[in-house]
Amino acid sequence: MSVNEAISRLTEEQANQEAQQLRTKLKQWATEYYTYDNPSVEDSEYDATYQQLVELETAFPTIIVPDSPTQAVGDNTLPEFTKVRHEFQMLSLGDVFSTTELSEFIQRLITQGVKPEFNCELKIDGLAISLRYENGLLVQGSTRGNGQIGEDITKNLKTIPSIPQKLTKPIDIEVRGECYMPKSSFVKLNEQRQADGLEPFANPRNAAAGSLRQLDAKVTAKRKLSTFMYNVADYSDLQATTQSELLAELATLGFQINDTYAVVDDMDDIDAFISKYQEQRDDLSYGIDGIVIKVNDLATQMSLGNTVKVPRWAIAYKFPPEEAETIVRDIEWTIGRTGVVTPTAIMDPVTLAGTTVARASLHNPDYLIQKDIRIGDTVKLHKAGDIIPEISAYIASKRPADSQVYVIPDICPSCGSELVHLDEEVALRCINPKCPAQLTEGLAHFASRDAMNIDGLGPKIIQQLFDKQLVNDVAGLYTLSFDNLITLNKFGEKSANNLLTAINNSRSNSLERLLYGLGIRHVGAKAARLIAQHFGSMAAIMAASADEIALIDTMGEVIADSVVTYFKTIEAQALIVALDEVGVNMNYLGPTSAKLAATDSSFNGKRVVLTGKLQAFSRATATEWLENHGAQVSSSVSKKTDLVIAGADAGSKYTKAQELGIEIWDESRFEATMNSEE
Ligand code: NAD
Repeated sequence: MSVNEAISRLTEEQANQEAQQLRTKLKQWATEYYTYDNPSVEDSEYDATYQQLVELETAFPTIIVPDSPTQAVGDNTLPEFTKVRHEFQMLSLGDVFSTTELSEFIQRLITQGVKPEFNCELKIDGLAISLRYENGLLVQGSTRGNGQIGEDITKNLKTIPSIPQKLTKPIDIEVRGECYMPKSSFVKLNEQRQADGLEPFANPRNAAAGSLRQLDAKVTAKRKLSTFMYNVADYSDLQATTQSELLAELATLGFQINDTYAVVDDMDDIDAFISKYQEQRDDLSYGIDGIVIKVNDLATQMSLGNTVKVPRWAIAYKFPPEEAETIVRDIEWTIGRTGVVTPTAIMDPVTLAGTTVARASLHNPDYLIQKDIRIGDTVKLHKAGDIIPEISAYIASKRPADSQVYVIPDICPSCGSELVHLDEEVALRCINPKCPAQLTEGLAHFASRDAMNIDGLGPKIIQQLFDKQLVNDVAGLYTLSFDNLITLNKFGEKSANNLLTAINNSRSNSLERLLYGLGIRHVGAKAARLIAQHFGSMAAIMAASADEIALIDTMGEVIADSVVTYFKTIEAQALIVALDEVGVNMNYLGPTSAKLAATDSSFNGKRVVLTGKLQAFSRATATEWLENHGAQVSSSVSKKTDLVIAGADAGSKYTKAQELGIEIWDESRFEATMNSEE
């Protein structure tokens, strides 16, 4: 029996009851998603349930109530924020899930006499924002909220570099668009959250929303958000007469727009646009969850108008979720350098959205318990935010009859000490400071490229040094001798000498590398550089108060407290003394802030994009060097980009730079210029 048949057999009363149940579910999910940025179900499950409600309400229009999710946008605002009433309502979009439905939508418009000219845009996976300018100056920024009332997040939006504070013309205008978190920032943020024992964000959309809806604008500033603007509340003062012209006009006013848009006049071209971006989706630096097709002529948009929830002149085509099925063979627990113990599902390898996947993080014990994943389960996999493989759910019908609930370990798999939950953390931690897994992870971090950059000191060698009790903390690395190293498996004279040289060279690194290498919670490479630059020496950092550290631009209290707490411990103080004694440099050797501002580097003031794999140094090192030389390094190529530096296997950014005629350098040219400017 088809869904429609099943619905037609219902009485109105039954349909009403069923609709009520669906609404209760949808409302709970909407609150979790919109208000708390923390969904408990996949978007596809929300969409399927929403679709069931639409079908019931279409068959029985009398059961529709004004507060049905089909009649309302988003959800309530958070009480912590000042409310903003949107003079022009902020709408959602109608959606379709197949090109057949899309074609029907287009056909309906054409039958109504609409000229077949449509603007195809990417549907950015972020959250809608509204920016109000008076006399060309940004006066207010807000979230969509329930479409009528949003949250005032002006301070937070002002920290986003792509949002102009001042337009190129002194006009009054309200501009709408999407705020998003680039994929690379999303991955880094979730890794950091995991290391800090916090729940990871489900996708870049929730990460962006969670980062924007912060009471402390400094937190937003650090989250590397960006925007694409695509609409105005009222276009009567603009010159544009079409959607595509509107985008171009927004760009001239100073807004960042997504310039992949294309004006098309038939379904074949729409299909081609969809296919193109469905294929390129994984290569984009930001998440998209579909394509938006808009009537291009603005006057026609006006005359078609809106329903209570969506415009009649646009539709979103949502990409089907990319899913795969596989079997969980084991659950592995790994201990990070901060002691967080993370479960990972080990699965039969399977192809998912173009890559082979055999492992998926299960994040933390609560997540594992909630999803009830067991060894032997057949599971559905998807990629969270197009990037990270994640288990959506187990398939109940395929669960083996003898399946056992997975028992969460209570002792550390590395050192056997009892695992604990600290404060309100969802993470399980090993708090034994001598835990071998934590120590070896800490050593690997210390030696890594962005920290002390000790070439040749990888995890396997560290493990051997540790097992042979040749090293038990980072200072111990500097007392290693040739005779020690030659005892290591597969180590000849040459490798022993090379490693000794690399260790020796690292003694003279500038302070920021050491500071980052210590692995202080919340202190990433950039924060370490700013702190080292500001204080100049380890002694000055150790003597600094949290207030003094927090004064550094973009630093914030969390980092400041973490630094002070770290250096208060006897262990940290003893380690610094030991490192000093073995001759590790304790001073900042890089350019000072004043020198930075006055840099006469040829990169000064340039917008640079790095793409592809660099061989000689990591992205972070290249970025740091460029920023130190006055460049602004961004993640996506636009007309404003001055230079693209392309390593091996550069993909869509390279192509786009070519299309836009932007200067492209290969790595060797970059390296040569770096050397000449050092
Ligand atoms: P939507 O995200 O499906 O589409 C509307 C939004 O698209 C607009 O408001 C705008 O913010 C955005 N957008 C991105 N690019 C755009 C462009 N180029 N032009 C115009 N708009 C663009 O609708 P919604 O109402 O924001 O959210 C509904 C969706 O949210 C559901 O379909 C579901 O996928 C998800 N959701 C999930 C849960 C859950 O629990 N997982 C709960 C509620 C909603």
